[in-house]
Amino acid sequence: MRNETARHDVTVVGGGLAGVCAAIAAARLGRSVALINNRPVLGGNASSEVRVWVCGATGHGKNHHAREGGIMGELLVENQFRNPDGNPYYWDAVVLDAVRAEPGITLYLNTDVREVDAEGPDEARRITSVTGWMMGSERRIRFESSLFLDCTGDGLIGHLAGARHRIGRESRAEYDEAWAPETADDITLGSTLLFYTKDAGHPVKFVPPNFAKDITRTSIPQRRIIKAGDNGCAYWWIEFGGELDTVHDNERIRDELWSVIHGIWDHIKNSGEFDAANMTLEWVGSVPGKREYRRFLGDYVLHQGDILGQTEFADRVAFGGWSIDLHPPQGMFATEAGARQLYADGIYHIPYRSLYSVNTENLLFAGRNISASHVAFGSTRVMATCATIGQAAGTAAALCATGNVTPRELPVPELHRALLRQDASLIGLASTDPEDLALRARATASSTLTGLAVEDSDELWPLAADAGLVLPADPDLSGVELLVDADRDTEIVIDLYDPA
Ligand SMILES: Cc1cc2nc3c(=O)[nH]c(=O)nc-3n(C[C@H](O)[C@H](O)[C@H](O)COP(=O)(O)OP(=O)(O)OC[C@H]3O[C@@H](n4cnc5c(N)ncnc54)[C@H](O)[C@@H]3O)c2cc1C
Repeated sequence: MRNETARHDVTVVGGGLAGVCAAIAAARLGRSVALINNRPVLGGNASSEVRVWVCGATGHGKNHHAREGGIMGELLVENQFRNPDGNPYYWDAVVLDAVRAEPGITLYLNTDVREVDAEGPDEARRITSVTGWMMGSERRIRFESSLFLDCTGDGLIGHLAGARHRIGRESRAEYDEAWAPETADDITLGSTLLFYTKDAGHPVKFVPPNFAKDITRTSIPQRRIIKAGDNGCAYWWIEFGGELDTVHDNERIRDELWSVIHGIWDHIKNSGEFDAANMTLEWVGSVPGKREYRRFLGDYVLHQGDILGQTEFADRVAFGGWSIDLHPPQGMFATEAGARQLYADGIYHIPYRSLYSVNTENLLFAGRNISASHVAFGSTRVMATCATIGQAAGTAAALCATGNVTPRELPVPELHRALLRQDASLIGLASTDPEDLALRARATASSTLTGLAVEDSDELWPLAADAGLVLPADPDLSGVELLVDADRDTEIVIDLYDPA
């Protein structure tokens, strides 16, 4: 075993989208950054190892106009250009390229951090180093820096440092949350494995393994949607472990998820109820996608009222727009719906005080482990939102390292200025930086488009399924004309939304 020491200004543990965006943000401000991930690929739940789709403030299409800018925006645009089909491996490469493009980042893949050195009394802990084991390389690496970011999702780093946190649901009274249970408990959202199938072009048999579960003995066929051609996140409801410990019972949870996936596939292939003779399993996940574990305690705990009330925090550094999306503790075995969703009236703000520890003075966090109640976490947990939180936390860490201050001491206007300069969207805040050239810039155009009418359409758009059309409309828009044609009597239902 080789023992090594790596010194950086900022250490980011966890290479999900939160950690990736935190590391990039800190590196772009000139800091040297260690980005450590215990898997061979970046992206966390979004990686090809888990394959969860990246969602964010647009919600379930409700906030059409809301889109993440900053680093997450760059990743989305690059992915749309390179990877319009959503190939999980191409997406891995987009994320890796973005990290490799930053000379300030040293990337440590396959490195599992499991030791933390911290000092000081319970109310003022300070991390001095974290140590990771690089699998396959027999290297034990001690990482030293002045600032540490826990972007591990599960929150192991902060936990080992003594940072205050909680697991499970708060009582309704604690933050006056209508969606919280009457009494606090340790229920979390469960974990999930996904699978992909393909048409092999010839008949393929499926002999179920002995561990496949007979799902006809469960409520799954009656209560959940199973379709032969569905893939990936269409099966988000294969969820288990909400009543267990999603970390310590991870192996047991994975086994149960595997048994159900093979049981579902047996049902699709062999029950005779599906047109699936040529279908075969292409990929089955083996790393359970974890939804929830520790949530750290910061100077502020974001809660249901802040999301639904869209609290305009003076220290807002990120925004979200997904619904509060909570699932029954029994997951896929629940007889009720797999999820219930509660929407704010648009997007909401996330305060900086929810991104640093209340009692560990050089610890920031980003992603699903921020300082939020279980109910608020139900919304902030989607990955594009985690990524914008990551950019905010990484920017703060870089400024703290530069100014030699703790996250709590960092002046918020300084953080706002840096974030705006880095293209982060802080809703309702504009740059006041006199150095900001954008404030003095003037844009002119040689001509303007005054109408949107498409006079000469050269092809038909068959309405084989529901279709949506987004028009960049002037507020004075007085009408929309659609030219439609049908070769037999039919009915078309059109919904018109104004996202303003
Ligand atoms: C099945 C499922 C469906 C979901 N549906 C959606 C959806 O449709 N859209 C959406 O946007 N979100 C969805 N979510 C939520 C979302 O995936 C998570 O909230 C999000 O991934 C959290 O991001 P993160 O960066 O905080 O953590 P993660 O994505 O969990 O990344 C954490 C990273 O840290 C690494 N790590 C952990 N511990 C250590 C350690 N000790 N040392 C080094 N590295 C470590 C992990 O390997 C991982 O790479 C879903 C989640 C699941 C599980």
